[in-house]
Amino acid sequence: MKHHRQKLNKLEDALDHYFKVNRNEELSNSKKASLINANNRETLKDLWKEHERIRKEHIQIGSHKVSAQIKPSFSYLDLKIALTERLLKNCVFCERRCKVNRYQEKGFCDVQETKIASEFLHMGEERPLIPSHTIFFTGCTFKCVYCQNWDISQHSNLGMPISEQKLAEIIDSRRSEGSLNVNFVGGDPNPHLLYILKTIRLIKQNLPVVWNSNFYMSQEAMCILEGFVDLYLTDFKYGNDHCALRLSNIPDYWKVVTRNHEQAWKSADMIIRHLVLPNHVECCTKPILDWIYDNLGKYVVLNIMAQYRPGFHAAEYADISRYLDKEEYQEAVNYARQLGFKNLI
Ligand code: SF4
Repeated sequence: MKHHRQKLNKLEDALDHYFKVNRNEELSNSKKASLINANNRETLKDLWKEHERIRKEHIQIGSHKVSAQIKPSFSYLDLKIALTERLLKNCVFCERRCKVNRYQEKGFCDVQETKIASEFLHMGEERPLIPSHTIFFTGCTFKCVYCQNWDISQHSNLGMPISEQKLAEIIDSRRSEGSLNVNFVGGDPNPHLLYILKTIRLIKQNLPVVWNSNFYMSQEAMCILEGFVDLYLTDFKYGNDHCALRLSNIPDYWKVVTRNHEQAWKSADMIIRHLVLPNHVECCTKPILDWIYDNLGKYVVLNIMAQYRPGFHAAEYADISRYLDKEEYQEAVNYARQLGFKNLI
């Protein structure tokens, strides 16, 4: 559990666990989960009960105390995988809650079999993350009219299927080449939750798992991710439901995304990204910054981004059909500074 009430005004303190795993001074959460003994159960209900029992126990004792070196025959990580295998039959990975059997059909995200568009050592992410071994999945739970990655997010068939074993070997080899983390993104990683869990179970090296997402995960997915993800790299887009529905076709955006930020903040390190949209400083940027300040505090690591491009279908929406003005970006940054955020990157 993150000590979020302490002073975290240095990046090193705010991302304490992340940096320690990087330096091999601490195990990643997924490695810890693979060392915690669990009991297998028959029914979904009993699997959840067992998961909750372990989750509570480790909040109380602190997961950093995990010390066993011998892998149990059935671990907390295996339990997460067993649960996710069941959830895929009636998919509720995100709050679209399609309830389709993903072994046989697709839901809103258009993902059945996992396909990978690209993987490489990314030098364009936030400074503490680079070089970041970034893995781009196809398909997405959102339909953003200005999507910068629309070629992969809206065409789930374009990538290559790669086995979990093969990807695990690639992740290990990228770590040897100097990657500081493995960074799952898309589209969105959430439709690929089971594939990601199974892949990470196979990696040999100790490295932080970065969940780079639109944050529309269901509560079930959030429970699975807790104790698995080391650093959440969140994309906080909208300050109200109207803009979210109009520009990304997302219902209930504010309730879901704020709930998930609160939960994630308590369980792992976090960097919040916010891409400032033209004409959306008042309706989106400021309410988002207010909410973060009021609910997560001033030590959150925050990246206010200026690189909006009016691509894909943006020309059809007058408000976002142009690039961002310098003044708009400056207003967003000034507002964050006036609120008192200490870790703007
Ligand atoms: S991941 Fe979300 S959008 Fe995709 S099938 Fe599951 S519930 Fe539907």
